[in-house]
Amino acid sequence: MRTSQLYAPTLRETPAEAEVVSHKLMLRAGMIRKAAGGVYTYLPLAWRTLRKIEQIVREEMDAADGQEIAMPILQPADIWQETGRWAVYGEEMFRVKDRHDRDFCLGPTHEEMVTTLVRDEVRSYKQLPLLLYQIQNKYRDEIRPRFGLMRGREFIMKDLYSFDKDEAGMNESYQKMYDAYTRVFTRCGLKFRPVEADNGAIGGAHSHEFTVLAESGESNIVYCPKCDYAASDEKAELKTIEAPAEELRPLEKAATPGAHTIELVADYLRVPVEKTIKAVAYQTEKDEVVLAFVRGDHEVNEVKLQNAVGAIALRMAEDAAIRATGGEPGFMSPIGVKEGTKVVVDATVMAMKNAVAGANEADVHYINVTPARDFAGALVTDIRLVKEGDPCPRCGEPLKMTRGIEAGQVFTLGTKYSEALHATFLDENGKEKPLVMGCYGIGVSRTMAAAIEQGNDKDGIIWPRAIAPFEAVVVPVNAKEPAQLSLAEKVYEEMKAAGIDVLLDDRKERAGVKFKDADLIGYPLRVTIGPKAVESGVIELRVRRTGEKEECRPEDYLARAKALLETL
Ligand code: ATP
Ligand code: MG
Repeated sequence: MRTSQLYAPTLRETPAEAEVVSHKLMLRAGMIRKAAGGVYTYLPLAWRTLRKIEQIVREEMDAADGQEIAMPILQPADIWQETGRWAVYGEEMFRVKDRHDRDFCLGPTHEEMVTTLVRDEVRSYKQLPLLLYQIQNKYRDEIRPRFGLMRGREFIMKDLYSFDKDEAGMNESYQKMYDAYTRVFTRCGLKFRPVEADNGAIGGAHSHEFTVLAESGESNIVYCPKCDYAASDEKAELKTIEAPAEELRPLEKAATPGAHTIELVADYLRVPVEKTIKAVAYQTEKDEVVLAFVRGDHEVNEVKLQNAVGAIALRMAEDAAIRATGGEPGFMSPIGVKEGTKVVVDATVMAMKNAVAGANEADVHYINVTPARDFAGALVTDIRLVKEGDPCPRCGEPLKMTRGIEAGQVFTLGTKYSEALHATFLDENGKEKPLVMGCYGIGVSRTMAAAIEQGNDKDGIIWPRAIAPFEAVVVPVNAKEPAQLSLAEKVYEEMKAAGIDVLLDDRKERAGVKFKDADLIGYPLRVTIGPKAVESGVIELRVRRTGEKEECRPEDYLARAKALLETL
């Protein structure tokens, strides 16, 4: 490929709409253009990278016995109604009607589609395990499409579904996929971490997210510097902190005028924040009020809370809804709320003694609250959000926190979908059983963006070689000089013949312009052909990542280029 023919309209200025670096750089490097919020056209450079990522994914899925298929993006509503997800999926689902007024959606995911496919074809345990996958566009009407390809409304996903005869088989398939994902992200040249994750609305028991490490990521992850524990902050388990033994005092009320935040209360009553109990009120999708209590210096983990009460969504409760439970906004307590109100108390709160909590009266708090004695009828569980320094649930070492981008996720699903959709098989004894499933997704377009979030500097993108749009660019310093251009052509042809994915920048632009574009687009290796090359055959190699240059003799440069690329 020659740059003079390459459709890569680079921009000098950073477009104002872009917030994160991958979005900015993909626009500037002429890789993508926006069609609508969260919907983009991929230009040739982006498409080359996407195809390379897809190819790595495809090879690893095939090596793990996955079989590639292509299911429809347009999906009939009835299969979603069978599992109940037509109602549950909500506004994130793009819904369309055909001319006969029948409902369809644009697939946000394919559990229903693949399970109904398999239920009609798989009869016997002899056909299992079965692993089917596809790589295609997915559609999700995200509330906040943003950060370019990171959170799109149309994006490319690889989704694989495993069908097994029993739980042991499912776990084997899960492990196979876990290993395949590890190879995919390693081969893509990314720094990543598999972390224990919440299963969310998809159901099932087991899940890991594959997180590409980057400061700009939306996922917070915790990891133990000593053992191999790592989890998303949503999932991170926490041990109950036992309060030291002390003599229990009787419950009393105390006036706390104007003290409607935990800090004000602690200040007013002169107690450490660790001796206070914080209340947060939520409403579920069914408008049911959920009162959550954590220690004053802790935060509520909304995902754990949602799982604890079996809700699909939680939002902050309105004051009127709180009052309807007998609670007082800003001064809530489990003591005295109406019977039947859902109260969830963090396990660490349950272990507190002589603490301060609201009293469901404006400007009044209880002191000497001992939840084990005073909070009868509450649901007690871990609903606390992890913080840096919390002890590792495995080994007790203080946890560290880092940020990342969820690029892939693997789940065990069990029989949730096969039961709902009656996808069964006959086992060795002729007994009918539901298929045992897992599902596994990789955001292909998000992985491209994540690679840029991880690899960039002030000049542009720094690609890992495996997924760079081109591995190398050959730049004649002055393409108007026939001797330079023909030498560059020769080098380009030699590199191509050696199997290097190379581009020739044959534009009659100034060298500075071509070097800037090469750095912006981020080809891992630049091969410069200048006057020295014509005079004495010296060919300069420059590594994008480090800026290191070396001069090679004509008989050496190719071997050197190959050796350098191996390391990039
Ligand atoms: P998120 O929590 O970021 O919304 P998710 O957990 O809903 O993602 P999955 O259903 O697990 O996503 O989808 C599998 C993969 O698809 C994700 O790991 C991610 O890489 C990618 N993905 C999900 N939503 C988007 C999106 N809106 N834009 C781009 N990629 C996405
Ligand atoms: Mg996910």
